[in-house]
Amino acid sequence: MITPVNLPKLHAPIQAELEEAVLRVMRSAAYCLGPEVEAFETRFAAYCAADHAIGVNSGTSALHLALLSQGVGPGDEVITSPFSFIASSASIRYCGARPVYVDIDPDSFLMETRQIEDKITPQTKALLPVHLYGQMVDMDSIRKIADQHGLAVAEDAAQAHGSEWKNQRPGTFGYPACYSFYPTKNLGGCGEGGMIVGDDPTMRQLTSSLRSWGTGQPGQYDHVLEGFNYRLEGIQAAVLNVKLHYLEDWIARRQDNAALYRELLDGTDVVLPTALPDRRHVYHQFTIRVARRDQVVSRLKEFGIIPGIFYPLPLHLQPAYSELGYQKGDFPEAEKAAGEVLQLPVGPELGPDEIRQVAQGLQDALAS
Ligand SMILES: *Cc1c(COP(=O)(O)O)cnc(C)c1O
Repeated sequence: MITPVNLPKLHAPIQAELEEAVLRVMRSAAYCLGPEVEAFETRFAAYCAADHAIGVNSGTSALHLALLSQGVGPGDEVITSPFSFIASSASIRYCGARPVYVDIDPDSFLMETRQIEDKITPQTKALLPVHLYGQMVDMDSIRKIADQHGLAVAEDAAQAHGSEWKNQRPGTFGYPACYSFYPTKNLGGCGEGGMIVGDDPTMRQLTSSLRSWGTGQPGQYDHVLEGFNYRLEGIQAAVLNVKLHYLEDWIARRQDNAALYRELLDGTDVVLPTALPDRRHVYHQFTIRVARRDQVVSRLKEFGIIPGIFYPLPLHLQPAYSELGYQKGDFPEAEKAAGEVLQLPVGPELGPDEIRQVAQGLQDALAS
């Protein structure tokens, strides 16, 4: 069976190191924040080449606090992508603000930056670009629009650890970037985790306070603000400190697997993902488009190959967001992508033999 993620297999070669790290925290009793979290913040900030990193308990919490730090509040509008995980929009709603969507570019699945200006109103407060599948949104366009219209920006980098736009990683453009360490992300813990990365000391101070009940001093009871219980756990940071050592190697293996898929599927009916210029694609997902997707998926499953479908329904058509008032047909490219995308297993735990097996299975599924 070849599955989209196989964490036991990924962890097997470093199992002893991971277990030792977890036990060390258990014995130390530094469970909520603490030295492992501080070490991980320093090292992950360095990995991104950013000044600050603030560990929180999920990518969703990172987005919520990043938006709050940029002044997003009730009545504001935040322009984002309808083709993402629901957390991108939920975090906007947690601030009392409203997600406003632009359609996606069909080649990259990223928000179409040329449509952003049409959506700007006096209520627009911020842009929330989503670096989907491991490839970054054009940050020159984002910066230009934000500067021209005086808008804040928060980057959703939950799928983009190590990704680059012109050699710069999320969190180094003057905006907070939000990472997730959910177990299946390119860098994941053994549980939930997230991080806000950025260069602004005011953002750092505010989000550090808000993640831990709005205290002025960590561990104290002087609540300057009403904050949240969004702290990163020591055990997760210990796991992430170990796994960060391997992230670059794992990204290289994802890229090798993607290159092999391209070679094997070249000239077939499969629409391969576009790797855009000026970027480092870290292949959180290897996303193809196929016709008759349901049929292809069931054939693949017969062959023991489990693909992913991210995402089968765009956010503007989710029942949870019916009150936003969007309708079918509002974002045709996002809707078309939702009906066609299929993710082939590309994780670093897979070797060339497995990639060949998936590519062959896919060709057989398409021919039948
Ligand atoms: C995973 C993900 C999130 C949320 O991260 P959690 O750690 O699961 O809260 C947000 N945005 C995108 C695009 C994601 O893939």
